Amino acid sequence: MHEMALCEGIIGIVEEEARKRAFAKVKVVCLEIGALSHVAPEALKFCFEAVAARTIAQGAKLEIVETPGTAWCMACSESVEIKQRYEPCPSCGGYQLQVTGGEEMRVRELEVD
Ligand SMILES: [Zn+2]
Repeated sequence: MHEMALCEGIIGIVEEEARKRAFAKVKVVCLEIGALSHVAPEALKFCFEAVAARTIAQGAKLEIVETPGTAWCMACSESVEIKQRYEPCPSCGGYQLQVTGGEEMRVRELEVD
């Protein structure tokens, strides 16, 4: 399952931070998910609980912030927001878009004890 692997990656990042910053408990993991990343937030939350059990992140709350997809429109020569890949430019309706953001997933913040 795609989400399971992602959660294992998140736990890996949390454990790495725990070593660097020497905290013992994580209360909240704030995650940024790009609109174009094909990650289902609900599935991710579900997996996170399972994967976090018996790790430093056990019982931590997963907060998910969705960030918009962005693309560069060659016709408009400007950056535009898109909700899906292969969507036309919202300004000119053209398809000469290059995706520039919104595909990534990253840990934005950890609230720790
Ligand atoms: Zn355009």
